Amino acid sequence: MFNPYNPNLYKFYYENNIMIKINGAGPAGLSTAIELSKISKDYDVTVYEKEKGVGTRFNGSFQFMFIPGSNVDGRVFLRSIIPQKILKKMFLVPIHAITVSTQHRTEKFHSLRPIWWAVKRGPMKDSLDYALYRTAKSNEVNIKFNSTSLDAIVNATGGRVPSGIAREFVFDTDIEDVFHIILDKRFAPGGYAYLCVINQKATLCVAVTKNMSKIIEFSNAALEIFKKIYNMKMNNVHAQTNYVSFDILQNYIRQDQFLTGEAGGLQDGLFGFGLWYAITSGQLAAQSILYDVDYNTSVTAWFEQLLKTGKTNRFIYEIGETLLGNRFYDMILKYAKNKPIRRLLKELTSPTPLKTWVYDFIG
Ligand SMILES: Cc1cc2nc3c(=O)[nH]c(=O)nc-3n(C[C@H](O)[C@H](O)[C@H](O)COP(=O)(O)OP(=O)(O)OC[C@H]3O[C@@H](n4cnc5c(N)ncnc54)[C@H](O)[C@@H]3O)c2cc1C
Repeated sequence: MFNPYNPNLYKFYYENNIMIKINGAGPAGLSTAIELSKISKDYDVTVYEKEKGVGTRFNGSFQFMFIPGSNVDGRVFLRSIIPQKILKKMFLVPIHAITVSTQHRTEKFHSLRPIWWAVKRGPMKDSLDYALYRTAKSNEVNIKFNSTSLDAIVNATGGRVPSGIAREFVFDTDIEDVFHIILDKRFAPGGYAYLCVINQKATLCVAVTKNMSKIIEFSNAALEIFKKIYNMKMNNVHAQTNYVSFDILQNYIRQDQFLTGEAGGLQDGLFGFGLWYAITSGQLAAQSILYDVDYNTSVTAWFEQLLKTGKTNRFIYEIGETLLGNRFYDMILKYAKNKPIRRLLKELTSPTPLKTWVYDFIG
């Protein structure tokens, strides 16, 4: 009988010659499988994906590899899971400049070192999803599409509860590269809107945590604003809406399954950075299967303080917006003006005793 609390899972699988089953071929599920197969070839690892291929949740939109509370470069981190020869074929572009606007201010931030790295999400051959898929295949992981397992021990099936909603437009355009974020409660309440253009490919995203049912209206309004600012042409437009889940759970083992990535609510509560959480929690689940490490203990040790920080930041963001409206965003931007952006982001996403205390108070 499988028992995820058993400290000797590896021995159990090895002696019983049992296949390790993972549900979900997103970053969390594939990273679990890659880590398992990298460490030991002693048993079969199979990933079950309900869709017909990897990356179907997204349609080529850009996401940004950033590690909350850390200075570690996103590319260096990806290199720890994806071999160089596969990484080279992946879309991976450093972002060195960001423009941030609020209703009354605009500031530009630059950094010599990448602020974060743009990756592509979707089924295409240069996406992060495809790079992880190729890495898993090259490590002899079995991947079954159009299927789900009833006795998987890792649940990496993505978000469960909608904490926010995001609508993205992916299109071709004629303007120069840009990364522009707008904080404005009129069309991104409790969230943000951004336009990222790289080599004439664009992602325009609006993420909100309030009035979620109005996401179409909000995203159309943001689109009009960006069109006005950049006077851009848009061709081959694809729009997609996705829920975003972030949460802090008491127990990351549910119904005898390890919850990894967004299935465990593992995502930054302010910005929605979830890639690092998904990949790292996958690696932690693999280590719990292979070694005598309790999954709940390692998830808590790695993420608890960061997750609390994300939730506290979100609380302050939403309270500030409710009390002061767009003036709150003006104040944030005034504070951030001329400060080194990488240091600012690290400080914002790093735990402090005060943030933990606030979380314990509000949580
Ligand atoms: C619009 C948007 C923008 C984002 N931008 C960023 C960003 O810039 N940076 C960042 O770090 N994060 C970002 N995120 C978050 C990031 O996408 C997630 O944290 C990450 O995808 C979580 O990976 P996952 O493997 O846990 O889940 P997913 O990527 O959702 O993968 C889950 C997989 O499981 C499959 N599945 C579902 N149910 C079953 C089942 N029953 N059986 C088998 N398979 C199943 C799904 O089809 C899917 O392939 C963004 C999210 C959204 C929605």
